[in-house]
Formats: sequence, C-alpha cells, structure tokens
Amino acid sequence: MSSPVRAAGPPPASHLYHADHYDWSRAPATFWHASGGPPPVAVDPLQGDVDAEVAIVGGGLTGLSAALHLARDHGIEARVLEAGPLGWGASGRNAGFCGPGGARRSLGWIARRFGSEAARQWYQLQVHAVELVRDLALRHRIDLRAAGEGEYVVAHTPRHIRMLERAAEEARAIAAAEWPLLSPAELRERGIALAEAYAALHLQPAFGLHPLRYLRGLARASIEYGARVHERTPVIEWRREGRLHRLVTPSGTVWAERVLFATDAYTPETLARELEGRTLPVLSAILVTRPLTVSEREAQGFLVPALVSDTRELLFYMRLLPDQRLLFGARGGLRADPASFLRRRAWLEARMRERFPAWRHVSVEYAWWGLVALARDGLPHLGPLPGLAGAWLAGCWHGSGVALATLAGRLAAFRLAGRTPDWPLPPFLAQVPPRFPLPGARPVILRLLYGCHLLGERLETFRATLAEARREREQR
Ligand SMILES: Cc1cc2nc3c(=O)[nH]c(=O)nc-3n(C[C@H](O)[C@H](O)[C@H](O)COP(=O)(O)OP(=O)(O)OC[C@H]3O[C@@H](n4cnc5c(N)ncnc54)[C@H](O)[C@@H]3O)c2cc1C
Repeated sequence: MSSPVRAAGPPPASHLYHADHYDWSRAPATFWHASGGPPPVAVDPLQGDVDAEVAIVGGGLTGLSAALHLARDHGIEARVLEAGPLGWGASGRNAGFCGPGGARRSLGWIARRFGSEAARQWYQLQVHAVELVRDLALRHRIDLRAAGEGEYVVAHTPRHIRMLERAAEEARAIAAAEWPLLSPAELRERGIALAEAYAALHLQPAFGLHPLRYLRGLARASIEYGARVHERTPVIEWRREGRLHRLVTPSGTVWAERVLFATDAYTPETLARELEGRTLPVLSAILVTRPLTVSEREAQGFLVPALVSDTRELLFYMRLLPDQRLLFGARGGLRADPASFLRRRAWLEARMRERFPAWRHVSVEYAWWGLVALARDGLPHLGPLPGLAGAWLAGCWHGSGVALATLAGRLAAFRLAGRTPDWPLPPFLAQVPPRFPLPGARPVILRLLYGCHLLGERLETFRATLAEARREREQR
C-alpha cells in the first residue's frame, strides 16, 4: 500500500534559483575538477530494481562519509544515489577550508540557549570533525593536498575587533580553548598582509585541502568496503510502500528499509512535503587566479597558504593554494542565471583586486559558484523526518561543511544502524532543521537579509570615515 509521499517528476530540486544552477548533466567548471585526478570507477548509474538496507540520496561529503562508516563500522552496504557526477554539489565546489564551524550562532549564544554543557559539546564536536578528516585521509590513503595551519578570521573594521575578543573569551570560558588574537603587525610577520585586517583570531585546528580529491578518496574507500555508489542517478520519486521506501530513478528503483537525505542546500523539496522549506540555500562564488610568482607574492606581502576569512555577514574568504594560485570567494547574490553569474564574477574580481592591488594584472583562470544551506535557527541538523519512519535528513552546515558534513555522515551511520552515536551530541544535532514558515517567501527573506547587511556595511564605512576624519583633526 502506497503512503502519500508526494510524487514528483524531474527535475528533482526546489528550484529556488534559476534552473541553470541545477544542471546535473555537467560537472561544475571548478579548479578542483581540473586538478582532481582520475574520478573513481564503479560508480555507474543504477540499473534495474534493487533492495537495500539503507539508501543515501546525495553523493557529497555527508552521503559518502555515511556510506563509508556504514560499510566499514556497521557492516551495512548502503546504496548512494547522486543526481550528477560525484561531487556535483557543494562538496566539489567549496574553498577547501577544513576547520571549525557549521553554525551561525556563537558558543555564547548556544550556552545561553542550551546550557554550557551543550556549548562545550558543540565546540568539541567541531574539533573532532577536523581530526576525523585527517584520520580518514591517513587510514584510507587519501591525498588531501593539505596546506596551512589554522584559520585566520580577520576583523574587517576596528569595531569588529570586539566581536573577535568576545569569541576568544567564550571559547576560553566554555571550552578552555585558546584562540590567540593577533595584531595587524603579527599577521604581517606571519606573511599575511591585508588592507582590511584590524586584528585576527587564529582558530585551530584547521587546514586547507583539495575538496574533490578528498571526496573522491572517500568514494573509493566506501566502495572498497562494499558500499554501492551510483552517480548520474537522480531520485525523481519517493514513496513509502508498507515498511519500505521506494526511490525511483530514471533507470532503476531502490527499495530501502531506511533512507538518508544527504542533500543539504540541494535538497529536492519537490519529492515530499516533509522536505520542503527546511533550508535557506544561499549563493557563494569563488575565483582562482593563475599561479603567482615569488616576486608577485612578496610585492603583496601575502606569502603563506593560510586560510583567511573576515567578519562580514556576507563574508570574503581567501587562501593561497599549494601551486600558489589565489582562491578568493564571497557569499551573496540573489539570482543564479548565467548573466547574473557573469555580473557576480566581475564584482568579485573587482573586490579581489581592491584587496590585492599588487595583483591587479593577474588573470583569473577559474570561476564558479554553489549553494550553502542556512537553517532558520542558525544551527546544523541531523534528524528523523517527522511522520516518515526510517527517513533522515542531514544538513545546514552554514558554509562550513567540509569537516562537519564528514562527521555528520559518521553520526548518521550510527543512527541508520539503529545505534547511539559514540560521541555526546548537543540537542540540536538530533533534530531535523525547523521549517521556514512560508517556504515560498524565502527569496523575499533573503532579499531583506541582504538589504540589511548592505545597509549595515554602508553605515559601518560611514562611521569608519567619520572616525578617521576625527583622528586626523585631533592630530593636526
Ligand atoms: C562556494 C562554496 C564554498 C564553500 N567553502 C567551504 C569551505 O571552504 N569550508 C567548508 O567547510 N565548507 C565550505 N562550503 C560548504 C560545504 O561545501 C558544504 O557544507 C558541504 O560540502 C555539504 O556537503 P553535503 O554532502 O551535505 O552536500 P552536497 O555536497 O551539496 O551534496 C548534496 C548532493 O545531493 C545531490 N542531490 C540533490 N538532489 C538529489 C536527488 N533528487 N537525487 C540524487 N541526488 C541528489 C546533489 O546533486 C548534491 O551533489 C562551501 C560551499 C560553497 C557552495
């Protein structure tokens, strides 16, 4: 007997953005795809009808980590169904910052809302997530192309120094963590000269990696342990029939006892009402330049492969890659059609050249963008979908999913195997993301949010100009 999970035809996406952004037929044109080595073999599209104890929708870091841990640690050979080529989603498009993060909320906010024990657990989970990535790479011989130690979060105005001081105080008080706050001079001594850096918090543990090499390594390891991975296999219909989940794809069907939606910002909301409106997907774009010479790097004073981001709501992030290219990215943008992409690219390039004036002449060789999922409550989630026994949803990594999605996959494996995770979890991590009350109004919410951020930025610049003028007057 079929239960009424909403049937849907292709394409399987929420289409909050232009359809071009959800074109699964092509791998995204990223630097990672150009330098990611050979793709894994034995990942052909699903053919025919198959049974599975667990089906995983989404072949990103969450899905592949869940598949690997299910097979390796719980003896369950899951089926992974990925709509595009493996790594088509954010996992193959990100900046490769592997560090703490995953929530829009501070440790202090979490302590006030859920108690200091939950905040401490959340901090420890983030550290554990980064260590897990290193462990997986060692154990499964994955060449991460790791580079850099720690992540520098820079105050982009003098007023934001206080925000960093508060974050350092909270980390010390709640988790006994020491995140040093560096002055601009100390940053320069470390080979990181930036115009808009009034102080920097040095977060650890963190390092840079090649995200697609990492993802492909996870895929190979999960296949070695018995998982079945199918790329170019979009789930276009999902029904519950009796105890089983029936996942229909263009060339076959999986009958599964349990299913994990590891789809984050690309969650196919048209498949079921229960998936609708659980994330707010936002755009983030990246540029990668040609390799920089030693003298070019010295001229700019940006010399080391450090991970750097700033304190803006719509943050800028940057790093030198191991082959000395600059990767430069930023969040924002309301439209994802091809013309908007070209405008966004030009805008981002102009911002990059403002920040790195010595590299005005340096060409940009790669540009792409992708979606990051935010939750209504600003927290990451992994929980059972209400009313749909055996169905789980994991996501809302808030643009910091490289480490956290890997860990979420490991935790999901425990849940899907019917076991309690071996790591204490803060309460929000045991629930699905709460719904946005009017899912269709999310573009309006985003427009308002961006409008507020922009206004805030302009006020900030105005205030900084006034303060500068006052200082000059006093000095005269
Ligand atoms: C530009 C950018 C930069 C970023 N930089 C960083 C960074 O430096 N550090 C960091 O920690 N995080 C970063 N992130 C965030 C990080 O990449 C994500 O949080 C993480 O990769 C999410 O992994 P995931 O497996 O949960 O989702 P994804 O990797 O997005 O995978 C979801 C998959 O589900 C598939 N799917 C959707 N619908 C269906 C369907 N119906 N059938 C089958 N498959 C389906 C999609 O094709 C997709 O591949 C960045 C994100 C972006 C976009």
